[in-house]
Amino acid sequence: MTTSTTVDRARLLALLERERSTFIDHNPRSREAQAHTGHLLGGVPMTWMAKMAGPFPLYLDRARGARVVDLDGHELIDFCLGDTGAMAGHSPSATVAAVQRRYAELGGATTMMPTQDAEVVAAELSARFGMSKWSFSLTATDANRWMLRLARSVTGRARVLVNSYSYHGSVDESFIVTGPDGPRARSGNVGPAYDVTQTSRVVEYNDLDALERELAHGDVAAVLMEPALTNMGIVLPEPGYLEGVRELTRRHGTLLINDETHTISAGVGGCTRAWGLEPDVVTLGKAIAGGIPIGAYGVSEELADRIWGDPDTDLVDTGGVGGTLAGNALSLAAARATLEQVLTEDAYERMITLATTYTAEVTGIIDQFGLPWSIAQLGARSEYRFVDPAPRNGTESYEATDTELEDYLHLFLLNRGVYLTPFHNMALMSPETTAGDVAMHVRLLREGVAELVG
Ligand code: PMP
Repeated sequence: MTTSTTVDRARLLALLERERSTFIDHNPRSREAQAHTGHLLGGVPMTWMAKMAGPFPLYLDRARGARVVDLDGHELIDFCLGDTGAMAGHSPSATVAAVQRRYAELGGATTMMPTQDAEVVAAELSARFGMSKWSFSLTATDANRWMLRLARSVTGRARVLVNSYSYHGSVDESFIVTGPDGPRARSGNVGPAYDVTQTSRVVEYNDLDALERELAHGDVAAVLMEPALTNMGIVLPEPGYLEGVRELTRRHGTLLINDETHTISAGVGGCTRAWGLEPDVVTLGKAIAGGIPIGAYGVSEELADRIWGDPDTDLVDTGGVGGTLAGNALSLAAARATLEQVLTEDAYERMITLATTYTAEVTGIIDQFGLPWSIAQLGARSEYRFVDPAPRNGTESYEATDTELEDYLHLFLLNRGVYLTPFHNMALMSPETTAGDVAMHVRLLREGVAELVG
């Protein structure tokens, strides 16, 4: 971790301490709930929930639209939106109605039988992302995992290439970063099955020379990448970069997978549509079923023929691709309603307008206080980093991480009613987010920064 040099560290630590005590005082019910978690590993339902800015996690009571209400009754404006899983807003009424009908009225969440919603969802995704044939999982992680298997299977190549400090879910092959002594496993890679430097290659985002060098080995089945990085801040492509990636992957017979799980913030068809990209595969998850678990991967017509036409590829038995609950009726009913009625072109237009306002206002704060920060926007999401100019790649962005500063800002906002994405400085807009929500966030951020820099 590196730290922002211009911040007075003593002052920052004192303010952080103050916000931590306020958090503890404000949230007695969450604190009490956390004190009674004897049967949960790490005291939380999923171990990453232990990594929050506060000394204990805030417990959820209920959520609707762009609001969450915690166990102590605070209504928070939610710019986290489940780190994109709730980008459609919490429990949008069209999705609630579809889930209610499928689960309660018709029944049959999981039957091993297809429903007609599947074709409708696949057709909608095709119209948005341009990929021709779709298959479903329950998470974006599994969409990526399964797609990598298929990519190795059809190309007969062993390796996968990712960008340094990218994130694609808990996909073994992706935990690799560049370093001064060459590629190495990313720290925190728990119990790897293989040495990741044997399964994967890695380059910096925005570095076409390195990509060309690595692809020239001729052993890369697929490049798995986000069109813009979103998991180490937002890192945008430089002019010509994505065209270069496409040209190089084609030239070297490597499949190009666009992971649009987060970059779906760019528009109804993610970056693929917004920027006219031509990947072989798009992977998705999180947002498209309004918070009900789903993942999806879509492939080009040509790749679909290669996958389905290969007699040696076992897609219908125990081949490592598939899950009992994948493609279930409930997920697909929720996805159909969310895509057709909630995450519409009109909704995106409003969301992107709000993110544009937020970005301009935060730029104003950065300028007002002369902060060495930068902010990047990708459609409906926006994120500031503690470095200026904006990072060009994952490593530069990683090096701008300042956990204490981040925790202070998160707690300052949380204690006053604004919930920002944990482990990020990311604000995401939903169809239910209002201009007033954005104004409140900006006002509080300005106050928090003013206290810090005097
Ligand atoms: N791809 C990207 C780009 C992601 O950011 C994430 C999770 N943050 C995933 C895949 C995995 O999603 P999930 O954890 O829902 O499987």
